[in-house]
Amino acid sequence: MNYNVNFDSFDREHLWHPYTSMTNPLPAYKVRSAKGAVITLEDGTSLIDGMSSWWCAVHGYNHPYLNAAVENQLKRVSHVMFGGLTHDPAIELGKRLLSILPEKLNRIFYADSGSVAVEAAMKMAVQYQFGKGRPHKNNFVTIRSGYHGDTWNAMSVCDPVTGMHSIFGPALPARFFAAAPQSEFAGEWMPEDILPLEDIIREHHDKLAALILEPVVQGAGGMRFYHPQYLIEAERLCKKYDMLLVFDEIATGFGRTGKLFAWEHAGIVPDIMTIGKALTGGYMTFSAVLSSEEVADTISANPPGAFMHGPTFMGNPLACAVACASIDLLFKEKWQERVKAIELQLKEELAPAARFGSVANVRVLGAIGVIEMREPVEMARMQRRFVEEGIWVRPFGKLVYIMPPYIISSTELRKLTTALIKIVSE
Ligand SMILES: *Cc1c(COP(=O)(O)O)cnc(C)c1O
Repeated sequence: MNYNVNFDSFDREHLWHPYTSMTNPLPAYKVRSAKGAVITLEDGTSLIDGMSSWWCAVHGYNHPYLNAAVENQLKRVSHVMFGGLTHDPAIELGKRLLSILPEKLNRIFYADSGSVAVEAAMKMAVQYQFGKGRPHKNNFVTIRSGYHGDTWNAMSVCDPVTGMHSIFGPALPARFFAAAPQSEFAGEWMPEDILPLEDIIREHHDKLAALILEPVVQGAGGMRFYHPQYLIEAERLCKKYDMLLVFDEIATGFGRTGKLFAWEHAGIVPDIMTIGKALTGGYMTFSAVLSSEEVADTISANPPGAFMHGPTFMGNPLACAVACASIDLLFKEKWQERVKAIELQLKEELAPAARFGSVANVRVLGAIGVIEMREPVEMARMQRRFVEEGIWVRPFGKLVYIMPPYIISSTELRKLTTALIKIVSE
């Protein structure tokens, strides 16, 4: 591999990358193009993609069907304000979302990124309680090991330690944190798992607008898979104490966990749900907040008589058009069979890692495979080894994990897991 071509000195000096130092940045490899499950670097090196660009690119890159959706919309209008105007892509997307989401969630607020969707969802919960005559119920409870985004309020409900935001601690609104559930996804339900949450809610419900959590799969906060029964218990508590239940499905949505949305593992429908990431198949930043009619009506029937949020790029037509195409493609391409096949292959091919002394745990759910190490990995060195072996994987902390595009072939996936196992064993 030609290192000079694959790194850019302007980039290194001037461009900030995610969670990166400006003075001592991790290397950023320069991408020339990407197609299907393959990312091509500047010097022509091909990497099999294990990340779907952080949960997004479920159909792989440069997909002709998604490209066409963007191109067709581009010829009509790429953006108009959503204030006082509407358009077919927004309406069509709304219809598609209603057809794949629970009946109860039939009010849709489009936003421009996952974090903004979380902000909007939290504001909805506060406005809802205000409308109910309970203005004191304006705080939130969540579970540890969660991740909900990088903006101020989203950050306030991230795990205070693993959520990458610990430095902001005293500047953030103080939320209530319950211990994360310990019952494993496929293991036995331990009834005491709900007690920490129950204790907090019993004591502080008069201050709590909502419980927010990622259903079943906790993503960037720890890549944990917990027991669906937890959601059943959580819903019971929310109902009992007049709190809203908010599911953040930004990472879990659109098939990643083996169900179209992760709520389906428990059959529990929240009052508010956020979606994003794979919503546009990874083409564009976009998100949505879905709520029940009851939430929307309560907000609307009380002062100020409106939901007080409205991003400039709300309902962006290009994003809506490609989101419609991405949802159509999921079904055309039989996402469920593909995710099932990936899950079976990951279970088989990642299993050997469990025997390595350096590995604490190996787990797979849907199209997500996690190798949890005993010690944090040396990111830059490991990243270079991945690139040398022709795969794209970005570990963090003790977690080496993959969530490939659903269109990955079994041969490509085998190359990905083989190289991964080889490097982890080093
Ligand atoms: C990524 C993520 C977010 C934040 O989305 P952005 O588009 O990065 O703002 C929020 N919640 C969850 C569960 C996520 O995985």
